[in-house]
Amino acid sequence: MTIIQNLGECENNNLYVKREDLIPFSFGGNKARKAELFFRKIDSDEYDCVVTYGSGSSNHCRIVANECCRREIPCFIISPQEASKRTFNSQMMELLGAETLTVPVSEVHDTIERKLAVLTRAGKKPYFIPGGGHGNIGTEAYVQCYREIQKQEQTLATYFDYIFFASGTGTTQAGLVCGQLLASDDRQIIGISIARKNPRGRDIVLDSVKEYMEGRATEERIQAATIFVDDYTSGYGKDDRRVTNTIEDVLKQYGIPLDATYTGKAFIGMQQYIEREQISGKNILFIHTGGTPLFFDSLKEMSEGI
Ligand SMILES: *Cc1c(COP(=O)(O)O)cnc(C)c1O
Repeated sequence: MTIIQNLGECENNNLYVKREDLIPFSFGGNKARKAELFFRKIDSDEYDCVVTYGSGSSNHCRIVANECCRREIPCFIISPQEASKRTFNSQMMELLGAETLTVPVSEVHDTIERKLAVLTRAGKKPYFIPGGGHGNIGTEAYVQCYREIQKQEQTLATYFDYIFFASGTGTTQAGLVCGQLLASDDRQIIGISIARKNPRGRDIVLDSVKEYMEGRATEERIQAATIFVDDYTSGYGKDDRRVTNTIEDVLKQYGIPLDATYTGKAFIGMQQYIEREQISGKNILFIHTGGTPLFFDSLKEMSEGI
């Protein structure tokens, strides 16, 4: 269980943060929570190597590489050339012995298929983890997180009216929404998109929710529960002054590291949403989804004045 910290008053609301970044494995984050479930399956069905997908700045690939490394099984990462920048995450993947195959994004799908076929032909039993830990297993990880939040509310004797977080592949959001649909409560769960635009971004979350729920919630309830805000996107990895200012402010004020790709944008998105919707007197939970190595990439860029 990750801690929920009370950060005190923020624009006439009570702000709390759930520190998923403090999950105690390989700098944590939502990818660590998802990977734990994927690797439970890998262990129980005795797969002996892993193939996954992600960019050079992928938190998911770092964690998967680390989980493979501790088990001494090979890890193959298929990475799109268009996003293969050297980062602290990619340096960790190297250190952890993952083998990265960099190809143009248009060839990613075929390269994955070919790699899996080659491994199988060589007598291996490869497991494929979708990029970002997408799919029902990843969704389940955040259904469990939702239940954790409910338990923590009892301990804290509070109720979070709003939950905000960075939404990328949408799996984290799908899990939280499914958790809510199963619990039938009425808070607002608001995914701040860090890249995808509507309607596509929201549609992907809806698909994941429906796949997991298997008819256990009506279309109307699913639609109402899925709020995907795309006002603050500037693409994966893109930086701007507002984001770096927010990273600096949050570090100075709370001692919490954010990054320019995910959590920094989500934090701004949350602040602007609160302001625009004139939300006041509410309990607000920000889920810190991790990405600590990316904080150091941001720090480097900030200190170099980029
Ligand atoms: C991947 C990631 C997200 C987005 O999570 P999804 O489940 O893909 O929507 C948010 N924050 C961080 C730090 C991430 O690494």
